[in-house]
Amino acid sequence: AIPLVVAINTSLAARNGMLVRDRIAMEEARNLDAIIFDKTGTLTEGEHGVVDMATVDGVAEDAALALAAAVESDSEHMIARAIREAAEERDLTVPDATGFEAIKGRGVRATVDVSGFAGGPLDESGGGDEVYVGGPNLLTQLDREVPDHLRQFADEAGQNAHTVVYLVREGELVAAFAMADVVREESYRVVDALHDLGIEVAMLTGDSRDVAAAVADELGIDTVFAEVLPEDKDKKVQELQDQGKLVGMVGDGVNDAPALTRADVGIAIGSGTDVAVQSADVILVQNNPMDVVRLVKLSKASYRKMQ
Ligand code: ADP
Ligand code: MG
Repeated sequence: AIPLVVAINTSLAARNGMLVRDRIAMEEARNLDAIIFDKTGTLTEGEHGVVDMATVDGVAEDAALALAAAVESDSEHMIARAIREAAEERDLTVPDATGFEAIKGRGVRATVDVSGFAGGPLDESGGGDEVYVGGPNLLTQLDREVPDHLRQFADEAGQNAHTVVYLVREGELVAAFAMADVVREESYRVVDALHDLGIEVAMLTGDSRDVAAAVADELGIDTVFAEVLPEDKDKKVQELQDQGKLVGMVGDGVNDAPALTRADVGIAIGSGTDVAVQSADVILVQNNPMDVVRLVKLSKASYRKMQ
């Protein structure tokens, strides 16, 4: 009789936009103690726009933005897209760049040809400059201090839940960009509904502590893991499991794959990358975090019958 129930259950799930890759996990979903959500693009819209910027003395905003756009010209990241769009809006000429390198969970680097670039004060050495754009994790890796003026800018931005990325040129931190992302309308209800089910809600992100705290505060999230590098995301899942909890993980990115694998119930959402989808137990086809709640409820309703 059990296979029949499971079959009904999975087809019911499919009708609700849930593709079940692992039936055991689907059954376990009813017992979850905690669910960890990826922040960007899962709890938030993930559509960053550049809302503000600051530069150090002697560096023009346009020059800094053009330089950042050059480094970001090869990146698919939402942050990259936002910086390129901001440069476009200002009609800036973006200098040529080579040697692109994505530094996972940190930022990007490239060699930028500033020779023919009317970049004002930035254009002094000529030839190819080594330029980085990235967040706090990048600054840690490069061991760079943030100048007071930019620190103040970043603190204020963080309080407004704006993500900050920095521009580092030839080892010098020269500018900071603040990017706005908004909490998804559905996320409020998701957190409330999971709390009603007695489930702890956690958030996992590579973004800065203050942005994470602002979003968590806004949504009433219980546990926050911020500035987490991609290779450490699964360790945060483990951390909750070590407390004896059955843990679900919801994410969409390549970076989330190891955490999805580690979780007792790995849930890929929306336009999840192939890697995320292959690492997940359940795939939520519609990009709606409320389906996480439906999944738990469906699991409870289905498997109660079997007991
Ligand atoms: P999340 O964990 O929120 O999904 P990611 O792991 O994709 O985020 O990125 C973590 C952090 O790394 C970002 O918040 C940003 O600071 C930095 N970062 C990643 N990619 C880029 C990029 N292309 N340009 C600038 N910063 C980046
Ligand atoms: Mg992500």
